[in-house]
Amino acid sequence: MSSRILIVGAGLYGATCARELHDAGHRVHVIEQRAQPGGNCATRYVPEADCHEHLHGAHIFHTDSERIWSWVNRFARFNAYVNRVKVRHGDGLYSFPINLFTLYQVFGARTPDEARAALARERQPIAEPANLEEHCLATVGPTLYRLFIEGYTRKQWGCHPSELPAEIIKRIPVRLDFNDNYFNDRWQGIPIGGYAALFDRLLAGIRVDFGVDFLRDRAHWLARYDQVIYTGPIDAFFDHAHGRLEYRSLRFERELLPVADFQGNAVVNYTEAAVPYTRIIEHRHFDLPSPGRNERASHTLITREYPAAGDAGAEPYYPVATAANRARFERYRALADALAPQVHFGGRLAEYRYYDMHQVIGAALAHVQRTLQGQCHRTDALTPSA
Ligand code: UDP
Repeated sequence: MSSRILIVGAGLYGATCARELHDAGHRVHVIEQRAQPGGNCATRYVPEADCHEHLHGAHIFHTDSERIWSWVNRFARFNAYVNRVKVRHGDGLYSFPINLFTLYQVFGARTPDEARAALARERQPIAEPANLEEHCLATVGPTLYRLFIEGYTRKQWGCHPSELPAEIIKRIPVRLDFNDNYFNDRWQGIPIGGYAALFDRLLAGIRVDFGVDFLRDRAHWLARYDQVIYTGPIDAFFDHAHGRLEYRSLRFERELLPVADFQGNAVVNYTEAAVPYTRIIEHRHFDLPSPGRNERASHTLITREYPAAGDAGAEPYYPVATAANRARFERYRALADALAPQVHFGGRLAEYRYYDMHQVIGAALAHVQRTLQGQCHRTDALTPSA
């Protein structure tokens, strides 16, 4: 049976649900507060620098799920970009994530065995690391922790690494070979034509209205649809009745420079606490321009990324997974569950999760599958199926 479904938010979660539900024969209507789709993956073409600008920070698609990779490739062609980050700390420039070349640069290790021995000398004997700092001291030791992690993490999260859970850092590999790929996943790339091209295809043939604030007229919208998929901040949906969920935000400072190539790489992290930004991205490198293009260009576009408090008014980028925030989220989830199945909460902001893009797609596909099977839609049944 065809249902009338409203999707609030044209980011990756909303657009994935929209595509699948539309293709299954439902009448889908998407409303979006911003002027363009794509949520925080949004890109736009900048002619002066002849590249696609990642408007809300670098978005590199990666997944280890063949199912999700095949699904997303129906809507975009991906280039062969591989994220190989460099780190600046003081006058030093390092390969990152930590790999054999990094261990050569820092400790002079030239082989995996020498690297293993160097790390064994560095590691501190902490039997059960209780936080991000202890995890790093126990796995890579104080030298690498101070060089790469401590300052960056303090800037990024606005608190000391001893107050943060180790999970935040576990996504970054430490390797004893020369592999400097930031991700372990089998597939990786950036849509050719930017994420705008991907979202154009995801939302093709579907009604999308921009500049619409769902929360201002929520009763109006809720009365008109069989199901509402809400992808905004869960605390805002309930008027912050249990207080605000904490987010970390970012401030972006973009600069168009009259040079051919500013830093020779897409991403350079600045890991010292004294430098106020965490990284500089140079957008053209994400597009994998043709050979020689980087040397011939007249201008390049860079963005400095400054972490910021997620106060009211700031864009909510990263959920802050402290125990207090998790507990607060559970109270909101109970309110959300009481509205199921008519209202479903999904995506990074509605589930208050530090999701990657492939996990968002996995969660959205799982939700749609459950909807199509006519099962109930409790939010706690949603887990990424990567
Ligand atoms: N991190 C760090 N130094 C770096 C890069 C990352 O300490 O040079 C830590 C930091 O705490 C960060 C976490 O690792 O929040 C995850 O990094 P990732 O690059 O995955 O973050 P994202 O791209 O999602 O901002």
